[in-house]
Amino acid sequence: MSPRPGAVAIGLALAAAVAAPGVAAADRAKIIDPAPAAPSSEPASKKDAEWAARLAPRKPLRQVDPDALVGKAPAEVISFYNQWTHEWIGVDVTDRGVDPELADRFLRCHFTNEPTDMDRRLLSTVLDAARHFKVDRVNVVSGFRAPKYNLMLRKKGHAVARDSQHTKGHAVDFWLPGVGTQALYRWAMSHQLGGVGLYPDSGFVHVDVGRKRTWTGE
Ligand SMILES: [Zn+2]
Repeated sequence: MSPRPGAVAIGLALAAAVAAPGVAAADRAKIIDPAPAAPSSEPASKKDAEWAARLAPRKPLRQVDPDALVGKAPAEVISFYNQWTHEWIGVDVTDRGVDPELADRFLRCHFTNEPTDMDRRLLSTVLDAARHFKVDRVNVVSGFRAPKYNLMLRKKGHAVARDSQHTKGHAVDFWLPGVGTQALYRWAMSHQLGGVGLYPDSGFVHVDVGRKRTWTGE
């Protein structure tokens, strides 16, 4: 595949290398094709618990002081990190391009490894949020969830909807480092595409392109 110039796949596990200040976008525009992660053989409930323990913020993240944003330029390249696959994509916001195939693969079901056609509005909304809060990194908690994986989660007693928007490629769960979940939720509500869910304990916000509604989870 040959991604457009704006869509840069960075298959590195090192946040520091990707987000290093002063590294020109062009210098990072080298495609390192990450090998797809093997489908998980672990029970999802155990993995979920492990990840929750390792990744969920233990306490509410610091709120961004709106005054502190004045005078700070938004990042030109925003790094998206997938917490499940440990993959990165770098998105050049001046070009606003996210190669659809790359985005679909990045947001694939981590359990079955299947991608789907993700709604294009989701990543641009997430990108807008990162631009608004002037952060150069987005942590993706969940994108596409294959129906059979969603069903398995339900059978294991997880609080996932039967007909989840995630199973249609219509939802993304994410958080922005350094941005309070409440602040991100308020922003998402003011730019509401469809559903917006707040998960204050887990520390992320859900956005989808379904019917406009809102809720609070855990
Ligand atoms: Zn969600």
